[in-house]
Amino acid sequence: MTLKLAIIGLGNMGLPMAANLVRAGYLTQAFDPNPAVRDAATAAGLTFTASAAEAARAADLVITMLPSGPIMLSVWAEILPAMRPGGLIIDCSTVDIVSCRSAHAMAASARVQSLDAPVSGGVGGATAGTLTFMVGGHADAYARAEPVLRAMGRNLTHCGGGGAGQAAKICNNMILGISMIAVSEAFALADRLGLSRQAMFDVASTASGQCWALTSYCPVPGPVPTSPANRGYLPGFAAALMLKDLNLSQAAANSAGANTPLGAAATALYRQMTEVEGQGGRDFSAIFEMIAGQAHDI
Ligand code: NAD
Repeated sequence: MTLKLAIIGLGNMGLPMAANLVRAGYLTQAFDPNPAVRDAATAAGLTFTASAAEAARAADLVITMLPSGPIMLSVWAEILPAMRPGGLIIDCSTVDIVSCRSAHAMAASARVQSLDAPVSGGVGGATAGTLTFMVGGHADAYARAEPVLRAMGRNLTHCGGGGAGQAAKICNNMILGISMIAVSEAFALADRLGLSRQAMFDVASTASGQCWALTSYCPVPGPVPTSPANRGYLPGFAAALMLKDLNLSQAAANSAGANTPLGAAATALYRQMTEVEGQGGRDFSAIFEMIAGQAHDI
């Protein structure tokens, strides 16, 4: 018998993920409060319901893909009573660790299995079905979810118990924010030292400065033709989303007593780019332009 699925939250990520579930042959009901997504959802083969609870009621497995922890918790509070005991709920949003743990506890009280399974790969990965999933929760829930997650993604890692997926996502994106700034500072300094960008790239990409922010997502135009720097920094991954993830890293560091000075500095710089410079809609690699444009007194 085909597994019955529901997906709640049909935004930039949720809609293409849901379309891949339909393509994989899963019956999929869907809900989003934004009426503007209804036509696109129907065109993708989804059955649009009148509420989140209605979508979840008939489902064996429910996926949520929502903007924040508080919204995810309110949606889970609405749908868990509608789900049958023994069902499975998976949150794929990026949320704070405290909300994530509360959600797992709420599901356990409703006798519903739960996983946190945040993703990386962006809208391109969601559309192509090549997302990376970082999963936290019980091994048997992971085993149940795996074929469904494989319909939307290519790389799956079971990171540990409840919350481990969010922890992996938050730590990974803190590395990404810090390393993008490090690479941008190096190019800004190289410019002022008269070193060509190509020479700087050719050396650092084969030497100890090598990292993903440099070799796959280079923040200056030229060396990596597919990077957003070559198309006016259209996202990609918007700076506002990087700020969201860095804020989550700092909330997690505060609650866990972890020392993350470079994470704090990266958060402050992305806050400046987003909230002071008003550039949250540009790709996060455009932080190069902000850094390069700031002269330091000699
Ligand atoms: P989005 O804002 O495009 O979509 C969120 C959707 O949730 C919207 O359609 C909104 O109407 C819906 N929603 C809001 N409140 C709701 C409610 N109470 N009930 C049901 N639906 C509700 O966001 P997105 O870009 O699709 O991102 C979703 C999540 O994935 C976020 O947590 C984000 O951090 C994470 N993420 C995004 C990307 C990316 O590149 N966009 C990459 C990785 C992870």
